[in-house]
Amino acid sequence: MTTGMDRKPERPWGPVEVREVLRSRGLRYSRPRRVILEYLSEQDRHVSADALYLALKQRGEALSLSTVYLNLGVLAEAGLVRAFSGAQGEALYDSNPSEHYHVICSETGEVRDVTPPLIDGQPLGTFLRAYVERQTGWQIDEPRVTLRGRAPRDAPAADSSD
Ligand SMILES: [Zn+2]
Repeated sequence: MTTGMDRKPERPWGPVEVREVLRSRGLRYSRPRRVILEYLSEQDRHVSADALYLALKQRGEALSLSTVYLNLGVLAEAGLVRAFSGAQGEALYDSNPSEHYHVICSETGEVRDVTPPLIDGQPLGTFLRAYVERQTGWQIDEPRVTLRGRAPRDAPAADSSD
């Protein structure tokens, strides 16, 4: 088993793939969706809809808050962004939909990505899903792993995941 802590989760979507994913669901790669995805994919970002709305507004993007909410929901439904819960249970969105886990500091709300450890050559979540499916006969959704804890107080900002 390796921890793979130093391996960055991969970001599988380029503009062509995004367009295809949306088209396969009968959705357009509209300007708001492009603006949102571009912003999110500039770096590893984990943001709330409110924070995203404000950041885009500061850039002069005239998207309403409801447009941001609506399109984040559409992009999450299409698997292009991933929704998860932050330190206070608030909805956060992640531009990296590939399998990775989150550690969240319950004091500062800081979010860090963690590459899944491998078990029998499979990421933990894939392994766990197959294991539970064998045990129960159920069809299990992709496990989403979020661990809570406290970041070291004087840690260098290793990841700019804000
Ligand atoms: Zn993430």
